[in-house]
Amino acid sequence: MTSRRREVIIIGGGFAGLAAAVDLAEQGIPVRLLERRSFAGGRAYSFRDKFTGDSIDNGQHLMMGCYHNTLHFLDKIGSGHLLRIQDSPRVDFLYEREGRSSFTCPSLPAPLHLLAGLARLGTISWRDRINALRVGIALRNLNGNRDDLANITVRQWLDSLGQSDRIQRRFWDVVALATLNERPEIASADMFARVLDQAFMHRKTDSTMVISKVGLSELYVDAARAFVESLGGSVQLNADVTRLEFSSNRCSAMHLRNGDVIEPEMVISAVPYFALRRMIDPRLRRSSPSLGTLDQFSSAPIISINLWYRQTVTDLEFAGLIDSRIEWVFNKNMIAGSPVKRPQHLALVCSGAHDAVRLTKDDLIRLAIGEMNRFFPAAGKQSPIHAYVLRETEATLSHGVGMAQLRPGCGTEFRNFYLAGDWTATGLPATIEGAVMSGQLAARQVLAES
Ligand SMILES: Cc1cc2nc3c(=O)[nH]c(=O)nc-3n(C[C@H](O)[C@H](O)[C@H](O)COP(=O)(O)OP(=O)(O)OC[C@H]3O[C@@H](n4cnc5c(N)ncnc54)[C@H](O)[C@@H]3O)c2cc1C
Repeated sequence: MTSRRREVIIIGGGFAGLAAAVDLAEQGIPVRLLERRSFAGGRAYSFRDKFTGDSIDNGQHLMMGCYHNTLHFLDKIGSGHLLRIQDSPRVDFLYEREGRSSFTCPSLPAPLHLLAGLARLGTISWRDRINALRVGIALRNLNGNRDDLANITVRQWLDSLGQSDRIQRRFWDVVALATLNERPEIASADMFARVLDQAFMHRKTDSTMVISKVGLSELYVDAARAFVESLGGSVQLNADVTRLEFSSNRCSAMHLRNGDVIEPEMVISAVPYFALRRMIDPRLRRSSPSLGTLDQFSSAPIISINLWYRQTVTDLEFAGLIDSRIEWVFNKNMIAGSPVKRPQHLALVCSGAHDAVRLTKDDLIRLAIGEMNRFFPAAGKQSPIHAYVLRETEATLSHGVGMAQLRPGCGTEFRNFYLAGDWTATGLPATIEGAVMSGQLAARQVLAES
């Protein structure tokens, strides 16, 4: 006779919670996922714009070939074909007066492809390109040990490696802001070194850019839910967990806003740190070895501005804008495979937006239009017919110096309570890949206990 397998309750239906649910359901574990909102997807979701009918993401998300856990998760739920994966790494950068310069990598083994890619960036001097070798050598010499970089910022590290202001502004800063969502003066060098190692020091395909051809919710939310439900699990929406109780080293009760109380067998918390903080009594939290750092976390915002132009503004799929408060422009029609569709829907991104987040919606639209006019002559000849601004004030963890030491691992001192989410100690920045990896780690740990 087989014994009944214990039910696992997962709190939170973002990438982390859904990845955990998928892996557990696949292993025959009874899974019940509780999501506070009326839709799942967390900080990576999409919805229909009422004016144009187009799909809008809560913020454009860019993935990379090195997102191995994410790509595996998406393949498993049958969504891999909805991704646009570059054949070879390529990023176009735009400069106001100098035009375009492309980062393209030749067929060389990593990390030579990175250095060759830099060498091809026409807007960086030869001296700077040769100097960039020092970053590659420093990464190699770390041999995975980034402890010495934990207490310095990205800026301090790049300065110590003799990187000029120009190459920092024109290349390294763009990479740091895009991957860490934090300015190089704040972001910690150990996390940046980890990103560079992951993206550029292994396989060339790891450096390719990966973008969803469809809205984020269409990419993974429905498919993950269907996968879990087909295996007998459930995804419950409008299920807001307001309080967790702990006794005898266990999570003993979960209180929901609708008055329900659950006595859980096993729990995976896959909510952001600020949501978990609210569910746990402050005295218990502060005295807990695994949850005691929750009060020390902080977040960095991302602003997204969607503009629709009647006439074509750009033929590029996406581009980084150098020396601009808007860092990236994504050509949504082209990414979706409809390059000639009009109006042209462009999604603009402003990361680490601590200052811009204070601007009004109208000011943000004005700023965006001004920057589009500056970089794209065709934008200056027309006005957008529609604009939509999204502000994610707690988009990601702020990867400042010292943050890595605060991030808790998956297991806690409570026997039936595990942590997942992009903010936990995955060794990765707070990204989709970190979130998926954390969910998969939590599932593995729960399985080992089941
Ligand atoms: C605008 C923006 C742009 C980004 N760009 C990128 C990018 O380009 N590349 C990249 O890799 N990453 C990017 N990220 C980061 C990425 O979206 C996150 O790292 C990832 O989605 C986090 O997933 P998660 O499951 O850990 O948390 P979340 O997505 O926050 O999921 C947590 C879930 O828990 C639910 N919840 C909260 N409280 C409760 C409660 N009390 N009861 C029940 N449920 C609850 C929430 O509603 C949510 O659905 C971006 C994020 C934003 C906001």
